Amino acid sequence: MKQKLIYGFAENKGHLTMDGIDVIPLAEQYGTPLIVISENRIRNNIRMLVNAVSSNFENYEIKYAVKANPNPSILSIVKEEGLGIDASSMNEATLAIKLGFKPENILFTPNFAARDELLWASNTGLSINFDSVGQLTQVSGNVPESVSFRIKIDYGKGEFKGTTTSGHNAKFGILEKEAVDAYKMAKKFGARKFGIHVMAGSNVMDPDHFRKVTESVLTVMNNISEHAGIEFDFVDLGGGLGVPYEPDEQPLDLKKVFEIIHTSFKKILGDRPFPRLCIEPGRYVVADSSILIGKVTDVKIQEKKFLGSDISMNTLIRPALYGARHHIVLANKLDNQIKGKYEVVGQICENTDRIGKAVPLPNPEVGDIIAVFDAGAYVASMASNYNGRPIPAEVLISDSGEEIIRSPSTFSDYVRNYIFIGSEKTGLNAGKSS
Ligand SMILES: *Cc1c(COP(=O)(O)O)cnc(C)c1O
Repeated sequence: MKQKLIYGFAENKGHLTMDGIDVIPLAEQYGTPLIVISENRIRNNIRMLVNAVSSNFENYEIKYAVKANPNPSILSIVKEEGLGIDASSMNEATLAIKLGFKPENILFTPNFAARDELLWASNTGLSINFDSVGQLTQVSGNVPESVSFRIKIDYGKGEFKGTTTSGHNAKFGILEKEAVDAYKMAKKFGARKFGIHVMAGSNVMDPDHFRKVTESVLTVMNNISEHAGIEFDFVDLGGGLGVPYEPDEQPLDLKKVFEIIHTSFKKILGDRPFPRLCIEPGRYVVADSSILIGKVTDVKIQEKKFLGSDISMNTLIRPALYGARHHIVLANKLDNQIKGKYEVVGQICENTDRIGKAVPLPNPEVGDIIAVFDAGAYVASMASNYNGRPIPAEVLISDSGEEIIRSPSTFSDYVRNYIFIGSEKTGLNAGKSS
């Protein structure tokens, strides 16, 4: 049996290709580990999303969750496609503003933010999605015109325990029973536009999940309207739209998701006008747009077969952090037969540094190229320099060819913020003002 690919990828003469480009020479050209991104896939993902939403809702807004992948070149594509921004920190929001996103199209939705950060967001004209009543009172004299609260509905669905973002024990959001008073307070503090927000799932592949979420949040909204005398401008269902991480998995049925959401709106709101539907996809927009490629550095046959490469947990932390699975292939041996199962490990001094477990592969040799799929979301954005290992370079493939959009981190990046107070002449403080 040969190795399988994630849908949308192809093989040419045993090599993995992306939008018709052989990815193997890129490893030599740019070095590894390397993230290769398809601009067309990002645009297609966004267009499919816009199509599915707009065929069910007239009044809608799609905000890209920057934390999935903040590369400015990617944010520019997102902007060209007409999306807004979901920002979880001041840096993310500032980056979006510098790239030309308008403050009114940015939802600021941090978690346990400091007062200064909330004041900054308010003064910058962002809409704030408050995570607690306490956060609102901290800026009582400076609430933005548009205010929403994240509601902790009784139902959460993470793919893993570590990615469940609502329901009992989640650290996010206000309780349903706090909601009426929270909105009364926001009104008293001067907010003029109101939204309600929920983020109850991560990498959700079951369209029916959104029925429960939508019905729950709209029921809470109706109750607030009635008891706090508030008309709602928008309902934000957060992110969570899933993508296939396994080769045989079917993509999420987007049309069905938004039909279900529409049916739930009808059921709970009847003939009343619908508030604007907002969603904040991160993963859906970028995950399958990218692969992470690395070089096999050694193969060790012990009680398990260990395949070591220069892709480590500092580059791809999701497997170690959540037990997440990413599909992996030997990208230069797609025409070879699978010969065994390998623990695909990295170069970090941690035994949890495993990128894949029991991965079926042809016989690997030092210098082979491995490719990890679905590397566009929560990979580069979560990468670190741990163990002194580099954060990978990023290359964007578009109709006009390929372009580097992030250079690999170097030794000087690694030591950038250290101020060396020793007396030896090491050159470590070179170029820094002392
Ligand atoms: C992370 C996050 C998102 C994006 O989630 P995805 O699962 O990547 O779609 C959206 N909204 C909020 C508030 C988030 O924290």
